[in-house]
Amino acid sequence: MNVILLGPPGAGKGTQAKRLEEKYGLTQLATGDMLRAERASGSALGKQVQAIMDSGRLVDDATMIALIASRIDKLGGKGFILDGFPRTVPQAEALDAMLAHKGLKLDHVIEMAVDEAALVARLAGRFTCVKCGASYHDTNHRPKVDGVCDVCGTRDFVRRADDRPEAVKIRFEAYRKQTAPILPYYRGKKILETVDGMADIDDVTRQIETVLK
Ligand SMILES: [Zn+2]
Repeated sequence: MNVILLGPPGAGKGTQAKRLEEKYGLTQLATGDMLRAERASGSALGKQVQAIMDSGRLVDDATMIALIASRIDKLGGKGFILDGFPRTVPQAEALDAMLAHKGLKLDHVIEMAVDEAALVARLAGRFTCVKCGASYHDTNHRPKVDGVCDVCGTRDFVRRADDRPEAVKIRFEAYRKQTAPILPYYRGKKILETVDGMADIDDVTRQIETVLK
């Protein structure tokens, strides 16, 4: 089974991908990781990737497709979750052609739909204990005693800069720009399905599992 999982940063895509890897024996193929791994391997393709990256250019579609093809060959028939590619219709078409050449196809494209305002509120409310790392939330999960960590009693908490509303909005906009072009393509192929990414983590997992059945 071969899957693309789409979701904005902060929607819990990483958690869901990990669960899919465990439950279905899939391997996550994330664009950045693949580029780094191939580059480090010193293969001919890795040297090509290195030359492109060192020159400051973006890795072109043909190289990216070759990279994904090479990773798929190493999976020994196991399925994959593709992350970070494709982002344009020509990339999606090239991916389909490459997979077809191997006798493979994409089975599901799953979009974790989120409400931007709700996501902003969810992320902006997060804070973490400086000492033990316990995580809390302004509305969903406050410490039992205000301002005191339940776990270690520390009174120092930190909020991630990434979780600030302005930062979340920028990442959300980038995500929307990257996914908007490919959604109609996969909808047209009838493999796009949408789950409610605002539900709690376990519920999202159940929705995804229903799609994959
Ligand atoms: Zn603590």
